[in-house]
Amino acid sequence: QEQLILQKRPNGMPTKETFQFREIEIPEPKDEEILLKTLYVSVDPYMRGRMSDGPSYVEPFQVGEPLTGGVVAQVIKSNHDHFKKGDIVRGNLPFQEYQVTNTTQISKVETGGLSPRTALSVLGMPGLTAYFGMMHIGEPKEGETVVVSGAAGAVGQIAGQLAKKVGARVIGIVGSKEKAAYITETLGYDVAVEYKKGNLAGQLKEACPNGIDVYYENVGGNISDAVWPLLNTFARVPVCGAISSYNLKEGEADIGLRMQPFLIKARAKMQGFIVGDFADHFHEAYAFLSEAVANGDLKFEETIKEGFHSIPEAFLGLFSGENIGKQLVKVVDG
Ligand code: NDP
Repeated sequence: QEQLILQKRPNGMPTKETFQFREIEIPEPKDEEILLKTLYVSVDPYMRGRMSDGPSYVEPFQVGEPLTGGVVAQVIKSNHDHFKKGDIVRGNLPFQEYQVTNTTQISKVETGGLSPRTALSVLGMPGLTAYFGMMHIGEPKEGETVVVSGAAGAVGQIAGQLAKKVGARVIGIVGSKEKAAYITETLGYDVAVEYKKGNLAGQLKEACPNGIDVYYENVGGNISDAVWPLLNTFARVPVCGAISSYNLKEGEADIGLRMQPFLIKARAKMQGFIVGDFADHFHEAYAFLSEAVANGDLKFEETIKEGFHSIPEAFLGLFSGENIGKQLVKVVDG
C-alpha cells in the first residue's frame, strides 16, 4: 500500500515535487484498534496553508510525513467493541490506502441512504462551514442582497442556497459559464457573475442595484475589491477564506489593505471564522443540512477523481477552478 507524503514545502503554487508517494506495510491492529481501508479522500484549500511552515490555526504538515485530511474509510478488521467489520467511518487521518487507528480520531458515518462521501461534502466540513458563516455571521434577512464568491465550490454552493431559503436575493461570483449555469439553474441563485469576463465592478453593480448586505468571502484579492464599494450600511462580511492569496510567493504583496475605508463608510462588520469555532452547534447544523438534503431542498455537486494517485492533481485543480461543488478523490469502491 502507499501513503502520500509532503516531499518539499512549496514556495508559491505547489508542483509535482511537493508530493511523493511512498510504499509502506499494511499495519496490524492491536487491542482496541481497528484497520481501515480508505474509500474517499477530501482535498481542501486550507491544506495549502499547512504545506507552509508559518504559524496558523492548524499545525503545518511535516516534510517526509504523510498529508492528513478528511477521509472516509471502511473498517476491515476491528479489535474494538464499538466498531465492526464493514462499518463506514470518517476522520481527519493520514492520506494512505490502509491504516490502523485508535478509535478516538474517527466517528461512524450516518448519511441516511446517501453516499458516505457526503460526510466530506454537504454533510461534512464544507456544509457546516457554509451554515455557520452564512447563518451565524452573515445573518441574511428577507429581501436583502447577498453576494457569495467561490459560489460554485464546496462551501459556496451551500452558502448561497441557505441565503435563498431566508428570502434573500443571491448573487454568485464564479469562474466559468458552466458554473454560472449550475448556480442559477440548479441551485436557484438569482444572478451569476463571471469574473473572468472582466469588468467585475460593472457587472456586480448591475447585479446589485440595491447594494450588498452580506458578502460571503471565499476568495479575497481583486474579486473582493469589486465588492467593497457596494457594501450597504451595516453590511456583514463573513470571511471564510481568501483562496486567491494562498499561493502567493514569499515576499509577494498580500491583499486586504484596501477595503478599510469602505468598511468604515458602511459601518460594515467583517469577521473571520474557522468552522471549528462552532463545534458546540454542529448538531444543529447537521440536523438542518441533512433534513434539507433529504427533502430535496438543498442541492449539491461533487467532482470526483479516481485513484489514490490522483490526490495531488485533484488538490491542484482547486486553484484553477476545475471542480464544481466538492472536490473528492475516490480511492476504491466501498
Ligand atoms: P472550492 O470547492 O470553492 O474550490 C476552490 C474554488 O475557488 C475553485 O473551484 C475556483 O472556482 C475558486 N478559485 C481558485 N483560485 C481562485 C482565485 N485565485 N481567485 C478566485 N477564485 C479562485 O473550495 P471550498 O469550498 O472547500 O473552500 C472555499 C473557501 O472557503 C476557501 O477559501 C477555503 O479556504 C475556505 N474554507 C474555510 C473554512 C473555515 O473554517 N473558515 C472551512 C472550509 C473552507 P472558480 O472557478 O469560480 O474560480
